[in-house]
Amino acid sequence: MTLLQCGNWILEGKSSSAVATYIRIKELDLIFDLGRCPMRFIGTNHIFISHFHLDHYFGLPIYISQRWLAGMPPGNIFVPQNGHKQLRNILNKISSLDRGKEWGYQLTPVEVGDTIHFRQNLVAHILPGNHSVPAVSFLICEIRKKLKPEYRNLSEREIVALKQSGVEITNEVQLPLVAYLGDTRGISVDSHPLLKKCKLLICECTFITPEHRERAKRTKHLHLDMIPILLEEFESEHIVLNHFSRRYTPEFIRHEIYKRLPTSEHLRVKLLL
Ligand SMILES: [Zn+2]
Ligand SMILES: [Zn+2]
Repeated sequence: MTLLQCGNWILEGKSSSAVATYIRIKELDLIFDLGRCPMRFIGTNHIFISHFHLDHYFGLPIYISQRWLAGMPPGNIFVPQNGHKQLRNILNKISSLDRGKEWGYQLTPVEVGDTIHFRQNLVAHILPGNHSVPAVSFLICEIRKKLKPEYRNLSEREIVALKQSGVEITNEVQLPLVAYLGDTRGISVDSHPLLKKCKLLICECTFITPEHRERAKRTKHLHLDMIPILLEEFESEHIVLNHFSRRYTPEFIRHEIYKRLPTSEHLRVKLLL
């Protein structure tokens, strides 16, 4: 299990193309993709699945059955609309193999354009993916109440009085926290007005050498060639690259990426291997 510190968050997980990708941010009580399910992930309550390639959802039966066995309430699993019925069938068949048991689980299909309120102060915006199968990306935002500008010069007592009289004194604002792109050939920063301002961007970079440019295009993955433009577009404090091909060793990946990226980007770019 790799641990990566990104500001106040610790990313836990693994990511290797075609093997498994699973990334938890415990502080936000969520997991992006679940290609495998380590036991320490069972207690996390929100799972966001980007697409139905096995390396991104194969851990779901373990997650669901372990919670069911432990008598925990089902976690909230968000999956692409396209394919969610087949997934339900698969999960039901697996559970019925276990002497006809029926696991309780909570599956919510999502589509591009949806906004999911999944915790008191957190929302997930569903953004497009661009992959060989239907895929989505996720932008997680925190909702904060902000005093309306016209009340900013009032005293505390005046504000309390207004509030008590039933006047709405705050606006809701959204703070973009994390974007997770899943497997994709890229994303337009115009997909959401807050996307480029997310604090943390988790982005695939499956292929890195010149001879794999064509393969990256054909299988709809990002190539290292495309990362510098993406870095220019995003204002994120932390950028985590993941989902590297098994053709490369971790040492080779590290060496090639930091050789290729400008030195000014070395601090904010981290690798999840
Ligand atoms: Zn993958
Ligand atoms: Zn994929």
